[in-house]
Amino acid sequence: MTNSSSERPSEFALIAQLFAPLANAPGAFGLLDDAAVIGARAGHELVVTTDMVVEGVHFLRHDPPELIAKKALRVNLSDLAAKGAEPYGYLLALSLPSRLSMDWLVAFAEGLRQDQREFGITLLGGDTTATPGPLSIAITAFGYVPSGQMIRRGGAQAGDLVFVSGTVGDAGAGLAVLRKPQDVPHAVRDFLVHRYHEPRPRVALGVALRGVASAGLDVSDGLLADLGHLADVSGVGIEIDAHRLPLSAALQGLWGDDLQTRIRAATAGDDYEIAFTVAPGRVGEMVTAVRDSAVITQVGRVTDSRSVVLLDDNGCAISALKGGYTHF
Ligand code: ADP
Ligand code: MG
Repeated sequence: MTNSSSERPSEFALIAQLFAPLANAPGAFGLLDDAAVIGARAGHELVVTTDMVVEGVHFLRHDPPELIAKKALRVNLSDLAAKGAEPYGYLLALSLPSRLSMDWLVAFAEGLRQDQREFGITLLGGDTTATPGPLSIAITAFGYVPSGQMIRRGGAQAGDLVFVSGTVGDAGAGLAVLRKPQDVPHAVRDFLVHRYHEPRPRVALGVALRGVASAGLDVSDGLLADLGHLADVSGVGIEIDAHRLPLSAALQGLWGDDLQTRIRAATAGDDYEIAFTVAPGRVGEMVTAVRDSAVITQVGRVTDSRSVVLLDDNGCAISALKGGYTHF
C-alpha cells in the first residue's frame, strides 16, 4: 500500500500501521484476532473502567493530537489510580471524522505510545469506525489490585479525615485561559494550560492508599461535586475548610487568593487528583505509606450530617453552586 503522508489508508492498514505496534502484550496477538486475552494474576482482581472523550465537549477541535490521545488515556488511568489499581492495558474505540489526515493519526498514535511507556501499559484491541459527527474516543482500561482491596467510594465514616492530592482548580483555570486569553505571565499560563491538557494520574498514590484509605475517588467534576458522590454512597456528610484547599502559585497568580478563588477551585473540573478519607487512627500509617507527604493535604472531615459543605474562615457554610454562592 502506498500513501502520501496525509492520505488515509484503509481501516485495516490503519490498524496494522498505527495500532499494532502499540499492542505489546502477547495476549493482544498483534491485533490480528477478534479478541485479546488478559492473564489472571494470582491473588488479584482485574479493575475495569471506561471513559469516553468527545470533541467539543472534553477537548477542542484544534488541540494537538498527541495531547488528545494522552488525555483520553489519562482520564481512564486516573480512575484506576483512585481505585488503587496498577494499570495493565486498554481497549481503544475510535469514531473518526474523515477530515482527519494520516499525519494527525500518526501524531495521535505517538501520544499513545509515549504514555504507554510512561505508565507501563499496553494496547489490547479496539474498534474503528468512520463518523459524520465529531471525533470521539472511548477507552476501556484494565488494572490489577490485590483481591478485595479496590478502594471504594462507599467506606467513609463520620470522624474520618478528608485529603486531596496535588492542587485543585488548575485545569479549570487552564481551560478558562484557553477560552478567553488573558494578560497573564507566560509561566502562569503554560502551567495552567498544561494541567488542563495533561492530567497526571496518581498511580503511586493510589497503590499506597490500598488497605488504608476508607474511601476514595478521582476528582473530575470538581472537588465538592465529587466529594458529594463519595458522601452519598458512604451515607455521610463532609465539611471542607476553604482555607485548607491546596492552590498552586500559578492559580493564585491568575485568580488571586480570596474566598472567591477558593470556591472556584473547589468547583472547577478536570483536576484528576485523588480525594480520599482515612480514619483518624490510621493517618500515621497512611502518611508512611504515601512517603511523599507533600503530595497530599488534609482539607476537611467526614460528618454524620449527610451534606457536603465548604466552610469559610469563620467556619460558616457557603453554598458553592456553579452560578455563584450564598451564605446561609
Ligand atoms: P471486527 O470486525 O470484529 O470489529 P476489527 O476489524 O474491528 O474486528 O478489528 C480487528 C482487530 O483490530 C481486533 O484485534 C481489534 O481489537 C483491533 N482494532 C480495531 N480497531 C482498533 C483500534 N482503534 N485500536 C486498537 N485496536 C483496534
Ligand atoms: Mg471492529
